[in-house]
Amino acid sequence: MKSRTSSLPATFVVDKEQRLIRMPDALIATTAPASKVNLLGMTRAQLESFFTEIGEKKFRAQQVMKWIHHQGVRDFQEMTNLGKALRDRLSQTAEITPPIIDSQQDSADGTRKWAIKVAGGGLVEAVLIPEGDRATLCVSSQVGCSLDCKFCSTGKQGFQRDLTAAEIIGQVWLAIDSYDGWQAGKGRVVTNVVMMGMGEPLLNFDNVVSSLELMCDDLAYGLSKRKVTLSTSGVVPALDQLADLSDVSLAISLHAPNDAIRDQIVPINKRYPIAKLLSSARAYIDVQTDKKRVVTIEYTLLAGVNDQVEHARELAQLLDGYPCKINLIPFNDFPNSGFKRPSGNAVSRFWKVLMEAGFIVTVRTTRGDDIDAACGQLVGEVNDRTKRSARYRAQYEETDTVEG
Ligand code: SAH
Ligand code: SF4
Repeated sequence: MKSRTSSLPATFVVDKEQRLIRMPDALIATTAPASKVNLLGMTRAQLESFFTEIGEKKFRAQQVMKWIHHQGVRDFQEMTNLGKALRDRLSQTAEITPPIIDSQQDSADGTRKWAIKVAGGGLVEAVLIPEGDRATLCVSSQVGCSLDCKFCSTGKQGFQRDLTAAEIIGQVWLAIDSYDGWQAGKGRVVTNVVMMGMGEPLLNFDNVVSSLELMCDDLAYGLSKRKVTLSTSGVVPALDQLADLSDVSLAISLHAPNDAIRDQIVPINKRYPIAKLLSSARAYIDVQTDKKRVVTIEYTLLAGVNDQVEHARELAQLLDGYPCKINLIPFNDFPNSGFKRPSGNAVSRFWKVLMEAGFIVTVRTTRGDDIDAACGQLVGEVNDRTKRSARYRAQYEETDTVEG
């Protein structure tokens, strides 16, 4: 074991996006002192190796994780089960830094939305949607998105950068902190998480996987894998890899009953068409030990594009025998979107065809309408000087539809 010293050996540094990187040994002696290491986004294994690297016992990781994620403590001096020398050393070399809240809005229906400022000047948002004794947090994974789905305002903003694991899990931390929800007995502020905010989670793979791990780790947020849902538009190779690393619930953004339509509205379909996506998603749930699991199929209804009865019939055929439930999302309009929300009747007709074909179908309900609480919305307002801003209304799944 390495001897304890008053400062961290410079084997770890954080890059400009706060990712922890190991310095090649050859560089250690000649490199200026590293900036502080942010422990917030580190998984149990990462924190254990962090402590091992500085000559401490692994179990320090468990103690520190509980302080960070159970107690909301950011000041190492408050971590009373660590010795004074270690507390001092951590204070000098490490930090627990959540992202900064730019603004917060509360809806009359209890939905709360945060615009979060991230390093480099970008904004992302997180939304907490209470529902009876549950509360679902919608979390962002990237600043913007590169996939350019035609009906998505985040896609129209383009891609700025990936969020770090600290910035992703930091959204959960912030939500709990915002309600002063750290004390035992207060009940859980966040009971479910959906990765349905800004960005394509599978394009920020490592940071998302680390964050999912923290969401489910008992030493962090301890959520059941059924209550954490990753939504993807279909980055198939990444989805194939995910099965080895995670077992959270899966939602796929299908939005079309055939490749011809999907090619038009979800450009990544040209690379990974529907058949490949469905089979990758099926493989993901097939390796899970829980055999009752299904894939949530997200289907945004766009008037005149994919909302006709014939599309519903084709979708029913496509998904015949597929282990899924279907979540219909009436399109949330925004200026110059080029799309229209279907009428209530059109939504009902579509829903009925699928119901009669024997599917479990839900229609996503609008929440936080008065505060424009859709992922990407506020960010659109702030960033968008041309008023191209997102106006798609918060339409979040009822928690029972994402839980499985
Ligand atoms: N990038 C991921 C997760 C974020 S988007 C994905 O695409 O799955 C979350 C969901 O909202 C996706 O199903 C997405 O297609 C849908 N969505 C995006 N813009 C929308 C809009 N304007 N109206 C309705 N649903 C929208
Ligand atoms: Fe990106 Fe998802 Fe929007 Fe497509 S729908 S542009 S993948 S955030």
